[in-house]
Amino acid sequence: MTAVDGSSPAPAPGAPSPGAAAPGDGGFEALFQHAPCGYLTTTDDGRITRVNDTFLTWTGHRREDLLGTAFARLLPVGDRILWSTHSAPRLGTGSGVSEVVVEVVAADRARRPALVTATRAPARDGAGAEVRVIVFSAPERRAHERELIAALHRAEESENLRAAAEAEARRRALLDPLTGLANRAGLCAHLQAALAAGEGPVGVLVVDLDHFNVVNESLGTAAGDELLLTVAQRLRAEVREGAVVARLSADEFAVAERCEDAGAARQLGERLLEALSVPVVLEGLEVVTSASTGAAVARGGSPERLLHDAGAAMQRAKAGGRHRVEVHDPARTDAAVDRLRLLGELRRGIAAGELRLHYQPRVGLPDGRVGGVEALVRWQHPVRGLLAPVEFIDLAERSGLVRELGERVLDTAVEQAARWARDPQHPTLEVAVNLSTRQLTDPGLVAAVTGALTRHGLAAHLLVLEVTETALVTDPGAAEAALAALKELGIGIAVDDFGTGYASLTYLQRFPVDELKIDRSFVTGLGVSDGDTAIVRTCVQLAHAVGVRAVAEGVETEQQRDALVAMGCDFAQGYFYSRPLSAPDLAQWVRSR
Ligand code: C2E
Ligand code: CA
Ligand code: CA
Repeated sequence: MTAVDGSSPAPAPGAPSPGAAAPGDGGFEALFQHAPCGYLTTTDDGRITRVNDTFLTWTGHRREDLLGTAFARLLPVGDRILWSTHSAPRLGTGSGVSEVVVEVVAADRARRPALVTATRAPARDGAGAEVRVIVFSAPERRAHERELIAALHRAEESENLRAAAEAEARRRALLDPLTGLANRAGLCAHLQAALAAGEGPVGVLVVDLDHFNVVNESLGTAAGDELLLTVAQRLRAEVREGAVVARLSADEFAVAERCEDAGAARQLGERLLEALSVPVVLEGLEVVTSASTGAAVARGGSPERLLHDAGAAMQRAKAGGRHRVEVHDPARTDAAVDRLRLLGELRRGIAAGELRLHYQPRVGLPDGRVGGVEALVRWQHPVRGLLAPVEFIDLAERSGLVRELGERVLDTAVEQAARWARDPQHPTLEVAVNLSTRQLTDPGLVAAVTGALTRHGLAAHLLVLEVTETALVTDPGAAEAALAALKELGIGIAVDDFGTGYASLTYLQRFPVDELKIDRSFVTGLGVSDGDTAIVRTCVQLAHAVGVRAVAEGVETEQQRDALVAMGCDFAQGYFYSRPLSAPDLAQWVRSR
């Protein structure tokens, strides 16, 4: 069978002929002619418009025999069908190419297997006419192609290896190298996905080993590592499938697991602690590990928030005696936020002069003469009204704001006492000012006190500073130095809430103290509880034994007053005489007596 009807002798390859060259193609034309593949272009209905030299050389056909004829006639009948059904120009739509393996009939009627690739959609030839491009890959070319493909595969493989290495590096970045558990980033990634999935609440437990550094330091880091591996193993054994166990830092682990509620998280936490409390043998020694655990449960929010809440709960577990589980309570966060807000308001309030002092008289026993007052701070809050110290002193103390607060109080109290001292209508009153622990150990205290006294012209002996036992024992060295300096100025020192702290007799002798204020909790029980009565009596005797005055706080009844008189207590203070009053009310109260 002839390949093409009316085949005739082939022209010299590359000879110029219609359809062989498009005007102005230059280098492209040469490339087209000598490309390593046979190229044809056809009209949309399959008539050959151009053919390259490679194709002519390969098949032995002459260009003039092919131009204008149907391309399909180059194929054996069977392949013609294959071509028309499977391939261009009718196959598919849009861009892209079709490929089919066919046989091409050469000029000598030999059949040459070829991979035929054809554009599905018309392309434009050099002259701008719409054509389809058909490419023949000769078998001998295919060997070369195979090589190329193999090389490509090799390249791909190495590319795959590189990608795999990258994936491995990514994976490693999420892993703790020692235990193989997730690290913090890995845990966060997991939590992110779990929270975003919205499949119900997720619990996070932060497990912090107690005294891990003791193991590390006494048995060495290898033993420490072994302990960590054991912990990792035990935690993994306790959690459900799908849970993630992570190591957050040296001795801090975390577990993320679906947890119905806080109760379930607590149960899980307790299970973890139990698993960890089984002794581990390290270097031949049986070591018992304990851990402090904090849990938090959330349905949404960020992984960081959840971890933070669990971490805060863990800190509470640690502070609360270790080896226990604390569950984060959202209300506590609200309370913390409230405290933070209040702190901001207090800072502003102090600057805006919203602090007020009330004065509670202190009377001598048994005659009831007023000799002094205790200044007690209040905060005139613009919205919440007059706030008692219990609502903000602790906050101020913990934040350090108590320094500013204390200086204001001191200044106002000294100013008021100086005013009374100058007023001939008013008895001269000693004023007692409360100092917090922080204030007592503040190196600026003595300067602040001296400053206030000189500013307002008050004699030092009219000022008493009240310090608690706790303040004295917190930093005895600093307290002793501060008190000695204050004493030097001639200021009186009172030990407040006496009997509730840990100050011993030695402290009383060591510190230059002038009076003991017997705590209200004992005074309340006077005459009611034998124990309290005995304590108050002992306190009075103790004060007198070391040569200081005894002051009873919180005297509310006549009975209490009488008992105190009988014991020889020197001063009394309490609602029985008066509540703390504003300065004008106090002046009124003094006049009325
Ligand atoms: P505190 O120094 O023991 O002050 C005595 C507290 O007992 C005062 O409460 C006073 O109002 C109350 N009180 C007095 N007599 C009676 C009574 O007969 N019955 C009862 N139930 N209570 C009585 P306040 O003013 O609320 O002060 C509470 C605490 O706040 C003070 O305890 C003191 O520790 C602290 N505080 C007050 N003002 C200041 C201050 O200016 N600076 C510092 N650092 N702390 C202060
Ligand atoms: Ca006091
Ligand atoms: Ca007190």
